[in-house]
This record gives sequence, C-alpha cells and structure tokens, in this order.
Amino acid sequence: MSTKILLVEDEESIRKFVKINLERDHYTVFEAGTGEDGVEIARREEPDIVVLDIMLPGIDGFEVCQILRKEFPNLGIIMLTAKAEDYDKIMGLQYGTDDYLTKPFNPTELTLRIKSLERRLEQGDPVKNNAGLINHPPFRLDTYGRKFFKDEKELELTPTEYHIMKNFMENPGKALKRDEILNLVWGEDFVGDSKIVDVNIRRLRSKVEENPAKPVYIETVWGLGYRWHIDQDE
Ligand code: CA
Repeated sequence: MSTKILLVEDEESIRKFVKINLERDHYTVFEAGTGEDGVEIARREEPDIVVLDIMLPGIDGFEVCQILRKEFPNLGIIMLTAKAEDYDKIMGLQYGTDDYLTKPFNPTELTLRIKSLERRLEQGDPVKNNAGLINHPPFRLDTYGRKFFKDEKELELTPTEYHIMKNFMENPGKALKRDEILNLVWGEDFVGDSKIVDVNIRRLRSKVEENPAKPVYIETVWGLGYRWHIDQDE
C-alpha cells in the first residue's frame, strides 16, 4: 500500500506543484488549505506523514502539529518554514517535529526527506530472536510491535525518537557520535543541522529519565555524542 501523505499548505500553487511531484513518486496525497481542514482530514484519512506549512490562516502549523502529535504519536511530521525565526521554535521540545524544510525548496529535496522518514516509519522488524524484544530493565523495546516500555508501562515515542532508542538499545554502552546517530536515523542524505539530534535526545530524556537534568540512561559523551548506559549485569 502506498504511503499516505497529507499536505497542509494554504498557497494553492505550492500545494498543487508538490502534490503532482509526490503522486509521480506513487504517494497517495491528501490536501488541506487550512489547519482546521488539516486536522479533520488527518482524523479521517490517518495519513502516515504530514507535510505541514507553519504560516496558515486560522490555527497555524505549530498548533496543528501539537494536536496531531498528541492524537497520533506514530505520525511522521515534516514542517515547512519560510522564516528563519521559526527555526528555533521548530527545534523546540514541545512540537515533536521529525524534520523540516525551508521555503523555497526543491521538490526532490522534499521527496528525499519523505523517503528518509518512511524508513523510520516502517512497521517493526521481521521477527528475529525473542520475537524482536530487546530487554534492558527497566526498559523493553518491542521491535515487532514497535512499542517501548519502561517498568511495563508503554511510553509513546515519535518515529524519530523510536529509531534513536532502537539504535541505543542495539548498542548498549557504546558511545554514538552525533553524526552517526544522524546517519542511522535520518539517513546519509540528510543535509540539515545536527542540532535536531540534540533536540530529540532532550525529548527522549524527558520521557525515560527520572530527572532529565541528571540523565543516567542517556549519557552525554562530551565532544562526541551520546551513550545508552545500562548495567550489563541486569
Ligand atoms: Ca503559508
């Protein structure tokens, strides 16, 4: 089944142009011209990925992002921004954006970002050992069902957070460079800022750590990156 993409953009010319390009790549595309319509169509069609403009009449892209992220934790979200000052907000913790593109953008670039996100959205791994479970008490990652648990309580992760966590849990105790994480999760062709790694790590810490200011599971390796610290005796 082809990936379903919802395009929320008020400028009709951009919307049509992007739609034609995505349909040529065999995506199923839904269009919305306002944030309100975007939310409604997302609820009805349950897209895999939303490409979301920030400047919209009515509720803006940030608000749409918050609503959708809350209702659909597994949704992939790519933000479109025209203003440099939006950048810091996109990188903020509360929105859970998976990626962003600055306008004007090349449609090929958008397709690359979508393909990279699709890899993160893929539904679980084929069953390997132990039905795809990775256990690091108190954490458990179910790569088949694509779920993450702490103390047997499920924690909702965005597609990007899930993939970072999977890479951590597959490499316990190993210091992963920020560039390495970027390549593993966003793909080699990602051209954005590696700050997006740090933002996602901050969000992950707020979910997995008792005290995110003093992380014990996701350690910072100064000048390098991050390490999943788990007591190997457990
Ligand atoms: Ca706009």
